[in-house]
Amino acid sequence: MQKETKAFQAEVKQILDLMVHSLYSQREIFLRELVSNASDALDRLRYEEIQDPSLNTSQEEKHIRLIPDATANTLTIQDNGIGMRHEEVEKNIGTIAYSGTKNFIEAAKKIKESPALIGQFGVGFYSAFMVADRVELETQRAGETHATRWESNGDGTYTIATIPARQAGVGTSITLHLKKFAEEEEAQNFTDEWTLRSVVRKYSDFIEFPIKMKTTRDIPVKDADGKDIEGKFEKQEQDDTLNSQKALWLRPASEISDAEYQEFYKHISHEWKEPLTRVHYKAEGSQEFSALMYVPSTVPYDYNQRETKYGFSLYVKRVFIMECCQELVPQYLRFMKGVVDSSDLPLNVSREILQKDRTLHSIRKALISKLLRHFKTELEQERGRYESFWKLFGATLKEGIPSDYANKDALVDLLLCRSTHSEGLTTLAEYVARMPSEQKAIYFITGESVGQLAGSPYLEKLKKKGFEVLLFVDPVDEWVTSSLTEYQEKKLESITRENFHLDGEEEEKAERKEKETAFKSILSLLTETLAEKVKEVKVSDRLVDSPVCLVSGEHDPSAHMQRLMEAMGQDAPKAKRTLEINVDHPIFSKMQGFAPDRQKSWAHILYSQALLNEGSPLEDPMLFSKQISELMLETQQ
Ligand code: ADP
Ligand code: MG
Repeated sequence: MQKETKAFQAEVKQILDLMVHSLYSQREIFLRELVSNASDALDRLRYEEIQDPSLNTSQEEKHIRLIPDATANTLTIQDNGIGMRHEEVEKNIGTIAYSGTKNFIEAAKKIKESPALIGQFGVGFYSAFMVADRVELETQRAGETHATRWESNGDGTYTIATIPARQAGVGTSITLHLKKFAEEEEAQNFTDEWTLRSVVRKYSDFIEFPIKMKTTRDIPVKDADGKDIEGKFEKQEQDDTLNSQKALWLRPASEISDAEYQEFYKHISHEWKEPLTRVHYKAEGSQEFSALMYVPSTVPYDYNQRETKYGFSLYVKRVFIMECCQELVPQYLRFMKGVVDSSDLPLNVSREILQKDRTLHSIRKALISKLLRHFKTELEQERGRYESFWKLFGATLKEGIPSDYANKDALVDLLLCRSTHSEGLTTLAEYVARMPSEQKAIYFITGESVGQLAGSPYLEKLKKKGFEVLLFVDPVDEWVTSSLTEYQEKKLESITRENFHLDGEEEEKAERKEKETAFKSILSLLTETLAEKVKEVKVSDRLVDSPVCLVSGEHDPSAHMQRLMEAMGQDAPKAKRTLEINVDHPIFSKMQGFAPDRQKSWAHILYSQALLNEGSPLEDPMLFSKQISELMLETQQ
């Protein structure tokens, strides 16, 4: 059929350009990428064969083959996996799924910094152009009777044609015409047996399918008695398997080295850095499964984007079933990477079945509790490392407190927060242990940043009393604190709520009553003047230095919550709040002597101050500015 010449999508061109012109280190990772694609293709064929046994046309063992040719200076990577249709080649090799998104720019930047990350961005195939100046691909999809041939020099275009069925049958072969590098570049020779052996060992040892290569050896010729004849050799060809094919997760932990664990992590996560910690778990008894799970040491580039997939790779008795099985992990553990291999699930399990499957459900339950126990041990025994983990993924883990009722207590124990006690992070247990005996509740405040909260007027009286306050500054904290009402039989109280009171003793209460009477006229003046803005005006029990603050009703959204919702473009229900005044502040005694007009003008200024103090925007900044100018002129007189 006719050969067509087509242009790559602009983004692919950019990636190719990067491969050809800018990347000089770690060229060998191209082999890891192509082998990993071949292994995916074999996995997918095996999976499809289970669903549709008629597809199983080849009796040949599933494998990957490397065919180096030193004379032609080529390397061919072959598999008998699923293959691709004509249109699949165009889609998979000619375009990038997330083109046009900001992910792409980010991806290009990251790849440039560290080429080994390429697999992470779903563009691993193009790494072939780091070592080749021409790539030919022939592929035949399982179930099809013709094949497709694709070719490119890594410039702006490729050619594609439909060709007759391959002799090798279903599968893909990729031939790299290797570049000739200048000597000073010390490039490896990828037609050399020992180079290929060591690269496969390094990156692809645990690939489950055999990676084969024909090699020749000089074998000593033997005499009639079976003894080697000295100095006489004959060439013998043999078919070697280069990888050990061990499914790491099924081996006993005691036999696995740290290096093997780390290499496997890099393989599944496409990360370059070592993981922070790992959990290797074998469950026996009513449920039989193995899990190998890792906590990454960096936040992935596409973390927390809605379309980003998460979850463990699922295997059934070593047979790959699916990537990113979300049914195995709750959202709040979405940062974890790993594999799970079950002995109890049927092989022909589909996503629809998985969602309702009881076996899977109980595996998930066991994994969650295993992981939460792991974090607990980390917290107790490796505090420094746990805090590093917390800084990366604590905000995600916290989501479990309001969403996973069954594990809430365990999750609350894992919580770390900032507080007014010290610069560092504290657990709730540590907070409670520090509480003076007269302190009745656990106090907290939510806001944008520790800096903003540290100077907050709401803290004034608490500070004076020596009571510690937790500072919650992650957006998710509004949600977390609304479901976290008690810890160790102590109530958690927001210090910006109107029902918060510190005065426990009778005489303090009486004192407040007295103040209310003494400033009755100011209270009613403020209430009248600000009637449209506030629900009521009260004498405050939380201020020491500041004159005013605003507090929310017990069930209304907090000011911080309202700002968050507005930032997300949502309509925040505007509930009127209560204005609290600190009548010990000289402003109020001074105000008592003013004429009504001036009192009203000050009322507005005080209200604006309360907004500024809590970090909310002013309703009318121009007016406020004018009022301040007037005030400044007054003091001059
Ligand atoms: P990723 O593997 O992350 O999807 P790649 O750039 O490595 O990204 O590969 C792009 C796509 O090309 C793969 O998702 C797959 O659909 C297809 N592909 C690549 N190599 C093969 C192969 N050997 N057999 C079948 N399909 C392949
Ligand atoms: Mg790939």
